[in-house]
Amino acid sequence: MTKRRLRIIPLGGLSEIGKNMMVIEYEDDIIIIDAGLMFPGEEMLGIDLVIPDISYLLERREQIRGIIITHGHEDHIGALPYLLPQLNAPVYSTKLTQGLISVRLKERKALSGANLKIIPPGGNVTLGKFRIEFFPVCHSIPDSVGLIIYTPVGIIVHSGDFKLDYTPVDGKPTDLSRLAQLGAQGVLLLLSDSTYAELPGYTLSERVVGETLDHIMADAPGRVIVATFSSLVSRIQQVINSAAKYQRRVFIVGRSMSDTVHMALELGYLDAPDGILGRLDELRGMPHNKIVFMATGSQGEPTSALVRMANRDHRQVHIHRGDTVILSATPIPGNEALINRTVDNLFKQGVQVLYSKVAQVHVHGHGSQEELKLLLNLAKPKFFMPIHGEYRHLSLHAKLAQSVGIPPENIFVLEDGDILELNPQAGKITGKVSASNVYVDGLSVGDIGSVVLRNRRMLSRDGIVVVIIAVNRQTGKLVGRPDIVSRGFVDTRESKDMIDESRDLLARALDHGGDRPAEWSFVNTKVRDVLNKFYYEQTKRRPMILPVMVKV
Ligand SMILES: [Zn+2]
Ligand SMILES: [Zn+2]
Repeated sequence: MTKRRLRIIPLGGLSEIGKNMMVIEYEDDIIIIDAGLMFPGEEMLGIDLVIPDISYLLERREQIRGIIITHGHEDHIGALPYLLPQLNAPVYSTKLTQGLISVRLKERKALSGANLKIIPPGGNVTLGKFRIEFFPVCHSIPDSVGLIIYTPVGIIVHSGDFKLDYTPVDGKPTDLSRLAQLGAQGVLLLLSDSTYAELPGYTLSERVVGETLDHIMADAPGRVIVATFSSLVSRIQQVINSAAKYQRRVFIVGRSMSDTVHMALELGYLDAPDGILGRLDELRGMPHNKIVFMATGSQGEPTSALVRMANRDHRQVHIHRGDTVILSATPIPGNEALINRTVDNLFKQGVQVLYSKVAQVHVHGHGSQEELKLLLNLAKPKFFMPIHGEYRHLSLHAKLAQSVGIPPENIFVLEDGDILELNPQAGKITGKVSASNVYVDGLSVGDIGSVVLRNRRMLSRDGIVVVIIAVNRQTGKLVGRPDIVSRGFVDTRESKDMIDESRDLLARALDHGGDRPAEWSFVNTKVRDVLNKFYYEQTKRRPMILPVMVKV
């Protein structure tokens, strides 16, 4: 019975920004929308990336008909290098998106064996009982699409990431008339981007950034360094356009940026006048006011080109007094501290720094409240589910939907892993599948669990205390006072008395005067209990306590 229902299961991207992934299921057919990554929060110590948990999909591998990618940003394609080898399904996307996917897969040596198929905006593909039509949407990267999914139960519209810029860089606005047609036909469910549901009004047009860049390129006395994401292809185009107007040449710094630029040029998504792009070895002797660099580092990432340039750690390019640095991207939540440090560092070196708080060097790629309402009004869905956002974004988007007349019982605010079941009359959240974070740390994927993270947090906060307990090899009895070694807990010289006192305390606690050998599990627990309590009383800190037994 439940089999005949349409099931919508978000595996990522709801109640968080990033790692977008959505499962749509009817009978034996499953399609997956997007496979993104998330950058780790500050509390995820030592973690490089976070990707969605696909255990639900791995149990149903033979039902997966395809993976559909809405656009080429990391939060939509970044998990593919890790997940595609396990899912082994064809991937459908537009041409530029496919180019970016190939670059990512190649970096991780996962390209061979991948089955990548191109669908143009406006085109469609049938996968099992679903037919999926790509409709063009405007976003901060060309070739972005939303999806119209024809299912046996009704039509689903998935907005992808979108805004309604009427003067976008690539000249291709969101196809509103197609949405209006669908609205007249009847839409069962709208899934819509909530990233900027907090912002009233309309998102500014990309054109504003073009104008700001023009002013900067005209007025900057020296070199201009633009830091952004390599996937913000529209922004790269704007930088090239402005540089061309003021006879500056553009030098791409860093591997991921130059791979992306070359791919986009080859596929015709970037347009650069002859000779404007230069190689770094041509820099020598060029007047500074004729130079523009494009690099990664808008998030203050320690290994990015900009941060290395600022720290004189870059092989070819260093920052000079008189340079102008533009950070052209939104800070990803959690990166603010790193970004601020980078900005401070640049100011200290006598550099002019422009970022979104002080100049219009960036506009959002996502629609604000009026745009979200317009989409709701055009699509006129029976059911609505906000996607792509933290819980507050989803909730505010749900309120907007109510304000345009969608009854509250037809609005579903889900979190990752929730199962929404729909029939033409009603919908219900019927259960939950596993949708935890999967951590990528160096070369390992998924073997870092919450225990490892909790330990890293403890170590970083209050340090570690190692307790060395000597026992007699023959009798098993304790020998002397335990030794204590600590790191990152207290200054051992200044706190020598306290440490000494804790050794005495331990010796007394462990000595029961009997002749019995010490039971290790008892000693272990006792040591932790005694020291936890004592150290907390003395210092209000909770270091990690690690008892070690040595036989003497
Ligand atoms: Zn995006
Ligand atoms: Zn996104």
